[in-house]
Amino acid sequence: MDWSEYDAVLFDLDGVVTPTAEVHMHAWAAMFNDFLEARSAAEGTDLAPYTDQDYFDHVDGKPRYDGVRAFLASRDITLPEGSPDDPPTAETVGGLGNRKNAAFAQILETEGVVAYPGSVALLDVLRDRGMPMAVVSSSRNAPAVIAAAGLEDYFAFVMHGGLAAELGLAGKPAPDTFSHAAQVLGASDERSVVLEDALSGVAAGHAGGFGLVIGVDRGAGEAALRGAGADVVVPDLADLVDGGVA
Ligand SMILES: [Mg+2]
Repeated sequence: MDWSEYDAVLFDLDGVVTPTAEVHMHAWAAMFNDFLEARSAAEGTDLAPYTDQDYFDHVDGKPRYDGVRAFLASRDITLPEGSPDDPPTAETVGGLGNRKNAAFAQILETEGVVAYPGSVALLDVLRDRGMPMAVVSSSRNAPAVIAAAGLEDYFAFVMHGGLAAELGLAGKPAPDTFSHAAQVLGASDERSVVLEDALSGVAAGHAGGFGLVIGVDRGAGEAALRGAGADVVVPDLADLVDGGVA
């Protein structure tokens, strides 16, 4: 890996730097399955449970409410939109999204976050090189996760779901949040590296014409990541450190 060809590195957070993709995955599953069970009981039907495949196909990497809408659409379920201020009990897109977030916050608080060792190894190498680095996450929880993992000092800029909404930037799979981060770091898209574990994020990197899109296979699968536009696929960021660390 010749880092001298690049001027910035843009990291997705959940599933790339921290193992929080799994926390999100569990929180989504708990929320959707409670919802489907309650709806089955209310309608006297037997709705199929939400699965990990639903997560990868419809939810992973997207902004919160987009994930809710995409999964519901896949089951032909329509709920009122509501608003991001809806209480977690509301049967709306906003309410379901907030219900998932409450589950996530609870897990974060009780279990904490430890970054992947291979990711910290790469962050150390790149920091030693003076490489400008940013986090580009769809999650509004990104700053809290970075703080919980003690990683604030590595990143010159953090793009998160709240900031993207404030700036009016389209979420992944649109490349806008990555492009904005590259610009903040003073780099062109062509000389920026994107690291992503989600198909929607890899697609964003590909659509934006970034210098290198590295897919991190935490479960989406190498073929699917390459299909979405990854130039390279690695199982862990340790594989991007010369000599490896694992
Ligand atoms: Mg991710």
